[in-house]
Amino acid sequence: GFDASVTLRNLTTGAGPVPGSSLSRVATLAALQGHSVEVRASGPQAGDVVQTVLALADRRFDEAPEQETGPEVPASSAPGPLPASPGIAIGPARRLTRPVSGVADGGRPLPAEQEWQRLEVAIATARRDLEALRTAAVRDLGAAEAGIFDAHLELLGDSELLDDARRAIAAGSPAGQAWRQAIRSVETAWAALPDSYLRGRAADVRAVGDDVLLALTGGSAATLLEPGILVATDLTPAQAAGLDLALVTGIALAQGSASSHAAILARARGIPAVVGAGPELLRTAEGTPLALNGTTGELVVDPGREVLARYRSAADRHAAVHARDLTEAGEPAVTRDGVHIEVGANIGSAADARAAAAAGADNAGLVRTEFLFLGRDRPPTVAEQETEYAAIAGALGGRRITLRTLDVGGDKPLPYVPAPVEANPFLGLRGIRLALQEKNLLAEQLQAICRAARRTPVDVMFPMVSQVQELLDAVEVLREAAGPDDLPPRLRVGIMVEVPATALNVAAFLPHLDFLSIGTNDLTQYALAAERGNPHVAGIYDVLDPGVLRLVGETCTGAAGSVPVGVCGESAADPVALPILLGLGVRHVSVAPAAVPQVKAQVRTLDLAECRALAERALAAGDSLGVRRLVAGADRRT
Ligand code: PEP
Ligand code: MG
Repeated sequence: GFDASVTLRNLTTGAGPVPGSSLSRVATLAALQGHSVEVRASGPQAGDVVQTVLALADRRFDEAPEQETGPEVPASSAPGPLPASPGIAIGPARRLTRPVSGVADGGRPLPAEQEWQRLEVAIATARRDLEALRTAAVRDLGAAEAGIFDAHLELLGDSELLDDARRAIAAGSPAGQAWRQAIRSVETAWAALPDSYLRGRAADVRAVGDDVLLALTGGSAATLLEPGILVATDLTPAQAAGLDLALVTGIALAQGSASSHAAILARARGIPAVVGAGPELLRTAEGTPLALNGTTGELVVDPGREVLARYRSAADRHAAVHARDLTEAGEPAVTRDGVHIEVGANIGSAADARAAAAAGADNAGLVRTEFLFLGRDRPPTVAEQETEYAAIAGALGGRRITLRTLDVGGDKPLPYVPAPVEANPFLGLRGIRLALQEKNLLAEQLQAICRAARRTPVDVMFPMVSQVQELLDAVEVLREAAGPDDLPPRLRVGIMVEVPATALNVAAFLPHLDFLSIGTNDLTQYALAAERGNPHVAGIYDVLDPGVLRLVGETCTGAAGSVPVGVCGESAADPVALPILLGLGVRHVSVAPAAVPQVKAQVRTLDLAECRALAERALAAGDSLGVRRLVAGADRRT
C-alpha cells in the first residue's frame, strides 16, 4: 500500500535480497524468530515503510504469544469414531482428488495477450472461490484458522509469480503451462527451505496453483477417481452433495459429527459413514483396506481375515433386513394400536425425491431447498426453482412436499449472500433471520413456491423462527409473492421448532400457522449449548437428553392438538428415540430416504400407550444415558 520499492535480506543466513511485495519471494528468506532482517526502501514513502515494518517487528508481527496458542490437541482427544450413517462398508481408502493433471491448454496457444487474459480470468475465478471459502472459515472457525486463505489470496496477487507467468506467456507458452511453470518454481524453492513449517507450506502453493488450473480448464471439483471408502478431514455440504454414489461405498471422516450436514447427506444417500475418527485417520495411505460399521461407529484399518468375515456377515444380515423392510415400505405405517404415523423423507433435490419414492416415503416432510442455492455463484431464478419444485413433487407422484425456505448461515454459507463476520454464527443471522434481510431472495423463492403450490400440494416452512414477528413478516412476504390472487388454497404454512424459546412459546405462534415441525438437530444443539458439528462436544449433543425431550413434549402440548406436530430432525430415524418422540405426541416424522423402510417397520412394532409410558419415564431420567437404558429395558420386555 505504500508508494515505495522495498527489498528484504536475511542478514543471519545471507539469503536475499528479495522484493518485499512478493510473498513467494519473502518466504524464501526463511526468516525465523531471532534472525536479523534488513529492510531497504526507496521512493516517496520509503521512510513510512521502514517505520511501519519496525513497528510491526516491535509488536512481534501481531502474533499471539506462544503460550496462548495452547498445547496441541492430542490425537487421542477425538471422541470417535462415531456412527454417522448406518450400514457396513468394506473397501480401499480413497482420497478426494482434483483431476487437474490433464492439459490446461488445448491445441496451439492463442496470441500472448489473449493467453494472459485467460490466465487473469482464471485467477479472478480462483480468487472469488477462495474469498467465499475464507468468509465461511472466518465464520465457522475464527479469523486465526481462516488465515491460511489470506496467504492463498496473497499468492494469487504475488507480483513476482505473476511476472514469471507473464514472461513465459510472452515467450510463447500457453497460459496453463506458464502458470504451472511459475508455480512449480515457487513450490520447489519453498520445499527446499530449512524450516519444516515453511517447507510444509509448499503444499499451499500447489493448492493455489491447482485452483487456478482448475478454473483455466473449467475442470470439476475434487472427487474420487476409483471406488472405495472416502477418507477426508471433513466434507462441506456442497462436497457431500456432489459425491459420486457409484464410487463412494463408505465415508470415514477425521472430524465432524453425526449431525453435521455431511453426515445428514450420507444418511440421505444411504452411504455408511463414521465421523470424528481423529487426525490419525488421515495418515492412512491411499488404497489401505478399511472396514467400517456406520451403525456402531467401528472403523478398522487393514482388517485381518477374521474381522473381514465378521463384517461381511454383518453386511449380509443388514442387507437381508433392509430388503424385507423395503418390500413393505410402500404400505402405511400403522402402530399396533391402529394409529397411522406418516413417514416422510428429508430431501434436497429431485434425485433425492426419486430415491424417497422408491423407499416408500409418504411425502417429503423436509425439502432442504438451500441445496438448490449452494455451489453456484448466483441464485437460481424463479423459473428454475419452480421447475425443480415441480420435479420434486412429480417424482413423489404428487404427494405433499414441504418446502423449507432458504436456511443458510451457520454451516451453510452462500457466496452471493454477503453474511457478516460473526463471533458466533450459529447464534447469528441464520435461517429466517438472514432470509428476512435478503428479502429479494426470499420473495423470489416464495413466488416459485406459490407457483408450484397452484399445481401440487405444498407446505411452506420457515426455519429457525424464534419470534412471532418473524413469522408475521415472512407471511407478509409470502402474501406479496402470491400476487393479486390469494394464497394458493392447498398451501399450508408452518415453522420449524429449532430454538428452545420457540418450543416453550408455541401457543403464541399457533394462530398464524397450520403445522409445526421440530428440527431436533438444531433444537438439540441450542438446548444443550453443544454445536452440532463439533466433535469435542459430540458426547454432550444428544437428543435423548431429558431436557431436550421435555422441549419436544412442550411443543406437542403447546400445540394442544390444534395443529399437527412432526419431527424432521435426524432423531426420528434413531430407533431408540422414535418410540419416545411418538410417546411425547409427535404424529408424523420425516427422515433420510434410505431410512424410510426401517422407520416404517419400527412404527408397526410400537404401541402408543407403551410409548407414552416410556416417554414419561424418559422425562424423569437424570440424563441421556438413563434414557437409553430405559429404552433398552423396554426392548427386552417386548
Ligand atoms: C434440524 O435442525 O433438525 C433440521 C431438520 O434442519 P437442518 O438439519 O437442515 O438444520
Ligand atoms: Mg435446522
